[in-house]
Amino acid sequence: MTQFELLIATRNEGKIAELRQAFATLPVRLRFLKDFEMISEVAEVGKTYLENATLKAMSYARQTGITALADDSGLEVAALQGGPGVLSARFGGADLTDLERTKTLLSSLDQIAPTSRIARFVCCMVLYGSPPSPPGELSAPKLLAVSQGVCDGSLAHEPTGTDGFGFDPIFIPNGHIVPFAALDQAIKRKISHRARAAETMRQQLDLFLGPNLTAGRSAS
Ligand code: IMP
Repeated sequence: MTQFELLIATRNEGKIAELRQAFATLPVRLRFLKDFEMISEVAEVGKTYLENATLKAMSYARQTGITALADDSGLEVAALQGGPGVLSARFGGADLTDLERTKTLLSSLDQIAPTSRIARFVCCMVLYGSPPSPPGELSAPKLLAVSQGVCDGSLAHEPTGTDGFGFDPIFIPNGHIVPFAALDQAIKRKISHRARAAETMRQQLDLFLGPNLTAGRSAS
């Protein structure tokens, strides 16, 4: 029987490592964007995480013919009225390194001297494609599942730690005293916004992946 293929629609190695672990127990063959040449990148032009994740999952499923899982995530800072949020990846300018972007965020907070450093990470995941179907049957691609995860915490005053990516050096999850970048990564993979969204998605995937089913293919 052909194993169900699931395209992890991201090029971010940090996200890939987290999702590999989250889906390790699923009977699926994970595929990655780097496995496909000539794939067109999808611009994150949506106004919400859900819009962006849906745009990516639909486009990559249609381009590859494989059921695709895409996510969109961001850091929401209370003192910035929930910003940068959906614009996190481009905060301060598209060409900045992660560390430059993190320092830009800290300086923007210094300028307003906030009384609160409360922040949270949010992740939305969308699964689009064809569910596994009985042999000989082909189901049409569609939106299959949506999940969301949140990780509450606060912002450090300076970057610490070398693991992870993005704003990990300044985000201290509630219940811990160091940022994600200085935490054991096994802990991040349990409590992060992405881990939580992935766990809900894993449960939904478990429902699709019953016995006696063959791989669904997205035709359009
Ligand atoms: P996107 O989901 O790839 O659009 O990324 C959104 C941006 O949010 C990233 O570029 C990071 O700056 C930030 N971000 C999202 N998730 C994380 C995380 O787990 N750690 C650190 N930064 C993150």
